[in-house]
Formats: sequence, structure tokens, C-alpha cells
Amino acid sequence: MISTSEKAAYLLDMDGVIYRENILIPGARELIDQFRESNVPFLFLTNNSMPTQEDLVVKLAHLGIPGLTPEHFYTSALNTADFLRTVQPASTAFVVGEGGIVSALRDAHIPHDNMHPTYVIVGEGTPTVEKLNRAHELLERGARFVVTNPDNWCPAGPDKTRPGAGALAAYLEASTGVRAYYLGKPNPFMYACACQRLLKGRPELSMADVFMVGDTMETDIRGAVEYGLKALLVLTGSTRLEDLENYVYQPTAVIADVRVLGDHLRNKQPLENLHSLHERAGIVRERSSVDRHQAYVPDLRYRRARPAMTK
Ligand SMILES: [Mg+2]
Repeated sequence: MISTSEKAAYLLDMDGVIYRENILIPGARELIDQFRESNVPFLFLTNNSMPTQEDLVVKLAHLGIPGLTPEHFYTSALNTADFLRTVQPASTAFVVGEGGIVSALRDAHIPHDNMHPTYVIVGEGTPTVEKLNRAHELLERGARFVVTNPDNWCPAGPDKTRPGAGALAAYLEASTGVRAYYLGKPNPFMYACACQRLLKGRPELSMADVFMVGDTMETDIRGAVEYGLKALLVLTGSTRLEDLENYVYQPTAVIADVRVLGDHLRNKQPLENLHSLHERAGIVRERSSVDRHQAYVPDLRYRRARPAMTK
């Protein structure tokens, strides 16, 4: 059993935690209502660099959580812009990506440059072969290589996925031999920027009070552990309870879904940690050869298991 104290703030992954395939996960709306009623700080944290903060406000309103503002969201696109602004404010960029990454760079006053960019930036999207060829040429000429997020694939429906920014980056890494730098989860810079936003104007709270709630071990949970935050794994997304034995890092606690967290905050009851139940039951599973990869993603809805990220 663990207990979240009165003093707490929450970073929330979205897909697999709040919604799945454009359907709200039960308990998600109640959890956000509970946060707002109790004045608990929360921030949605997503590796999808395609939507803008405004897009996400509209999306969640359509799904059944109205009244959010752009400041409730932090994306890997914003993280990439924050990174460039921090390390090299006078840079220019050639972008292979759509939507959020383009507007984040514009807001950060980082100009588009298809001749001699400081950076080639790969984000989520469906680029043309011509665009990939240009990125390849610019990397060969010495541009630095940054990727908004390391995800190899993204959910695109109940039984299908699409290639993610990590897969596009792998293509260009292979063709140029240039190794990319990946922003977004699990990069600690994502968590550092997110915590800054989450805790702004709340001097009574510190990093020790922050929980990351996520469904993916390689990104949400790994990043939280490496940055020193508490991590709550929910089982409504890409991870099953029995998969935990395959990972060297572990969440602080495992809960069935966000409804459990909402009930816990409302009723002040201890949070039931499914992981310790699992360990107490002494469930030991023979590992098949396909399970040996640490980043094995077990969702049987997809025919081919493969790592969520390889970096
Ligand atoms: Mg997720």
C-alpha cells in the first residue's frame, strides 16, 4: 500500500491513461474534476509532437473533459523548442514533421531553413520522400540531428499502428550514419521542463511531491524513475502486470486505472498497489524467447510485438 499525501502534483500521460482510440477511459473525467475541486496541480505530458496545446484542449473537450486550457498540456514538440531555445537560441531548423512541432518552433522564433540549418528536426507526421531526401542531404552537410520523441510506432486504431518519429529517425540515422538526439519522454529534460511548469506558483510543492501517471514502461515510467519522480503505472494501455518482471526499473506503484487514483484522492483511502499483490502471490512465469527483449510490448491486439523505442 502507498499513500499520496495531501501535498501532491501530477504529470499525466494521455493515450492509454486518459483515453484510448478516442474513447475516454472510465474515471478520467472524475479524476480531472477531483484535481480541479481540490486545487491539485496537474499537467498532461505527451510524446505526440503533432497536436498543438489548443488542439488538445479541443480534443479533450470532444471526449468529455471540457474547460481545460493550453497551459494544461506539455508536448514533445514544446520540449524540443524549449531545448533549442536553451542550448542554441540563434539556431535555424529544417523540420520533417507536422502541426505542433512547426508551431512550437515558430513560437520560439526559430526560423525554417532548408539550405544551411543548424538542426534537422524530425517529428510526427507522414513526410514525402523528397522531404526525407532533403533531410538526408542536410545531415550529410553537417546539420545536427534532433528528434521530438523516440516512439517507433503510435496507436492508430483498435487494431493498427502507424510509424512514429523514432522510426523515421532510424531511417535517416541509417542513411547518414548521424546519431539523433531524442527529446520527449524518457529524456529527463522533458521531466525537468514539465516539473517547472507544474510547480510554477506553488512554492509549497517540490519535485518530491510529483507523481508521473503513465501506461508505457519505456517512456513514462523509465523517465520518471531516472529523473527521480514517483511513477504510477496504469494497466489501461500498453503494459500488463505480468510484464513488469522484464524491466530493470519499476514503477512506485501499479494501479488498475485512473478511477482508482480518483477514488483514493476523494475518499482518502490507501492506494492499492497491484504490484505488491502480484509479488506476494509469487507469480513466476517461464520466459519465452520473444519475451527476452526488455522493451517487448505485449499488446496482443497488434500482431507483431516490437519495442516502443530502441534508444
Ligand atoms: Mg501512453
